[in-house]
Amino acid sequence: MPVYVNCPHCEHPQVVPAARRGRVRFCRQCGRPYRASLTSDTAEPIHAESLADLQGRLGGRPRVYILAA
Ligand SMILES: [Zn+2]
Repeated sequence: MPVYVNCPHCEHPQVVPAARRGRVRFCRQCGRPYRASLTSDTAEPIHAESLADLQGRLGGRPRVYILAA
């Protein structure tokens, strides 16, 4: 069941699919990252300077795209 939360940055209402709880999502209104709580219908803001900073903090590998000419 999806949860309904307000963006912690701009209060824009968001629908978060159940499978996406606990994952980082980006607000559709302001584009800033947040994470929907696994245990309650709330969202916590994630403060990151950039997407690269966010990926680094999450421990994810940077994606490498190879463009074939
Ligand atoms: Zn927002």
